[in-house]
Amino acid sequence: MAKSLSLLFTSFLFLLLSAGNAQNPDVIRIPDILGYQTITFDPHLHTVFSDGLVWPTIRVEEAWSEGIDAISLTEHIEYRPFQRDVVVNDHNRAYDVARPAAERRDVLLIRGNEITRSMPPGHFNALFHDDSNKLVVTEWRDAFRAARDQGAFMLWNHPGWNNQQPGPAQWHDEHTWLLENDMLHGIEVINGLLPNYYSPEAHQWSLDYGLAIMGSSDAHNPMGMDIDFAAGERRAMTLVFAEERSVKAIKEAMMNQRTAAYFDNLIAGREEHLMALFQESFEIESVTRNRHSFSAVLRNHSDIPIKLTGKPGANETVEFFQRLTVPPLGSTEIYISDLNQENIEEITIDLIVENFLSRPGQGMPVRLTFRPD
Ligand SMILES: [Zn+2]
Ligand SMILES: [Zn+2]
Repeated sequence: MAKSLSLLFTSFLFLLLSAGNAQNPDVIRIPDILGYQTITFDPHLHTVFSDGLVWPTIRVEEAWSEGIDAISLTEHIEYRPFQRDVVVNDHNRAYDVARPAAERRDVLLIRGNEITRSMPPGHFNALFHDDSNKLVVTEWRDAFRAARDQGAFMLWNHPGWNNQQPGPAQWHDEHTWLLENDMLHGIEVINGLLPNYYSPEAHQWSLDYGLAIMGSSDAHNPMGMDIDFAAGERRAMTLVFAEERSVKAIKEAMMNQRTAAYFDNLIAGREEHLMALFQESFEIESVTRNRHSFSAVLRNHSDIPIKLTGKPGANETVEFFQRLTVPPLGSTEIYISDLNQENIEEITIDLIVENFLSRPGQGMPVRLTFRPD
């Protein structure tokens, strides 16, 4: 009897342990750049403490299993439809509930809230403040002041959300007021929940007004309901180029616009960051020459595919692929011919990296030179 009981206990323990290990953490391979660490951060998530459909600790487990470094549970201050079932008047509670799980999983948890007002000014995330309850005020300007006075980073969410404002996203006087009063520091250029998740208007404003370029999942469902992991998809996120993997360093990097938005094989950012990412990810190997034609292998060291096409109007004396994708962690062989039929030492082509948006809606120009090894 004792033996079978202990056997039962052992198998129960084994089941528990194997359940815990069933989901191995993923690793997101995106290179570090310019002496900074590339940190993955989802700054916009919901749980049952506002209108999301999961418990806060599940957001931590999801982030851990996907290899996300940092998350923020940005519960709506003004919209909490489950209040009848989750009776909590303390707006810090989602953070407090998630905190022990975040420590155990080494996921950086950043306090956040969504200040949820009609347009203008619309929805904004406050991040890095100390007390969410101070944001519970009547006037929208007072809510922003309360966040700013706690040193918050303020992020304009989904400026192009049709439900709030049909047609293209619009900049209002209220946004100028926020900018001038140190209450606007970043903008969602990518929101994973919107059908047209990339906003060229938001990208333009980020460049015009010095705002951090942000990407968010804005998930309300369990992540696996929205993202097809088996097909290799990932949630929308922000890449933060930080001095170290810490909450403090993430804030410093975001306040200094060292970010890029990433989702669905698309990356949007400032050219200096995207060019550095391209240079660290991309390599030309095994260049050989046969009179006026060259062959080479293009290699991609990152998880982001590299989609190349010829720059229109350039490359008139050379012939090469029309359009080509260097797959994640993979390589592709290419051939380039010089149409002048000359015996040349090297060959240069001008390309556009179509899925690296360094300008609103536009891929990033790059020049590649091929010289035999
Ligand atoms: Zn919102
Ligand atoms: Zn939201």
